[in-house]
Amino acid sequence: MYYKSTRNSSVNVTSAQAIAQGISKDGGLFVPSELPKITLDDVKALGDMSYAQRAFFVFSKYLTDFTDAEIKYCVESAYNTKNFDSENIAELAHLFDGTYMLELWHGPTCAFKDMALQILPYLLTTSAKKLELNKKIVILVATSGDTGKAALEGFKDVPDTEILVFYPDDGVSAMQKKQMTTQEGKNVNVCAIKGNFDDAQNGVKAIFTNQDIADELDKNGMMFSSANSINWGRLAPQIIYYISSYAQLVKDGEIGLGDKINIVVPTGNFGNILAGFYAKKMGIPVNKLICASNANNVLTDFIRTGVYNRNRPFHTTISPSMDILISSNLERLLYHLSGENDAQIREWFGALASEGKYEVSNSVKEMLKDEFYAGCCDDIQTKECIKEIYDKYSYTCDTHTAVAVKVYEDYKSATGDETKTIIASTASPYKFSGSVLDAMGIDTNSDEFELVEKLAEASKIPVPASLAELKNKDIRFKEIIDKTEMKEFVFKTLTIHNA
Ligand SMILES: *Cc1c(COP(=O)(O)O)cnc(C)c1O
Repeated sequence: MYYKSTRNSSVNVTSAQAIAQGISKDGGLFVPSELPKITLDDVKALGDMSYAQRAFFVFSKYLTDFTDAEIKYCVESAYNTKNFDSENIAELAHLFDGTYMLELWHGPTCAFKDMALQILPYLLTTSAKKLELNKKIVILVATSGDTGKAALEGFKDVPDTEILVFYPDDGVSAMQKKQMTTQEGKNVNVCAIKGNFDDAQNGVKAIFTNQDIADELDKNGMMFSSANSINWGRLAPQIIYYISSYAQLVKDGEIGLGDKINIVVPTGNFGNILAGFYAKKMGIPVNKLICASNANNVLTDFIRTGVYNRNRPFHTTISPSMDILISSNLERLLYHLSGENDAQIREWFGALASEGKYEVSNSVKEMLKDEFYAGCCDDIQTKECIKEIYDKYSYTCDTHTAVAVKVYEDYKSATGDETKTIIASTASPYKFSGSVLDAMGIDTNSDEFELVEKLAEASKIPVPASLAELKNKDIRFKEIIDKTEMKEFVFKTLTIHNA
């Protein structure tokens, strides 16, 4: 198995190279040269395995340059009950008949990002060792809230790594900010920027692809890599939970082997739903992939019309991890749908960079409609949905997951489709206690830890220890910079002085 660049199909690297490098030099994203197949017999066998064993099975198809011992080391180090508060790692909860919440937030930072970021440091350091890079790996992260904390937890005190996280000062929840600014570890750095998530992501991408900066790091014995979902090492682990949950539903007798399911995903950067697409292409029987957006509904319009247009107002919403107008991973999807047409990708994403807009071909439009359904809702509808689910099913979900539930309800009324459905539940409600309580009609005039206690009373869900203990931690990181100062901040932090 080799990896190509979406902007240059003649690039041919191993998985270790793709993971260590993060992004291709031409600015493209690494994609597998073919999608490995799994059979229904495989699915049946997976039903009897642990999550780590299922992960081993999937990784061994993608990381063909890793030895079995290396993959085993990675999956066992990440997917265990030291890191996750559930033996199953990902939990499947019944919401209502034929609808299952795939709870992906049982890891250390209470968001689905842990599913990938608990294993990425192992994949990355193993890759670096295999390639004999002998350099310190500097992880640069742009975050809309959850990736930053999950990456910090994953990489803290990992030898020969240093991590720098940029987050939009006004774009994260109080709990998310607290999680990041109190982060412990000797190799971690956190900085707020004046700007939104797209500014942070563009800044990080620009630093990554700047050859002068790369040369400067090289001279100092360092290299950049990425923990954002542009890195293949982020995406591959996300395929696993879709395969795993399908196998689990078969094993539990909820669906028959070969029955189709729908997958609903609250979407921002298009990483999580793309992993669902890969699971489908590998052989998991999927009917529709349902892409749910908040008021930043650029993907809804794109999937419906084939026109991607980021020239629109940016909304700060109660589901901040989806406040994104440039969804990076769409580039991977379009590379596959266009028949691996790298020239076409260069044209479209060139137009996106220069005009903020592109329109895909008719054949790609057809395929988009075939594979996906897209919908969106605003903050008021999100809150109504949280209240409705709470009242009807005594289930408390976070603001992002509620967007998915709402869009799924709209999908059902529009289509009458009764296919059994998995809804990706992407964060613990405790990360967004204020908005969730507000939706339930409970007074929110208290600090974030009192809110947590109120939510515990209402939801009956145990408070995650990792959030409760933040209360007594000191704020370590207070810096706020302009989005134009990111490069200087990186050099200053790494103590390279000729910026
Ligand atoms: C990151 C995130 C999302 C969006 O996921 P993408 O892979 O970026 O589409 C949704 N919900 C939560 C809670 C998140 O942290």
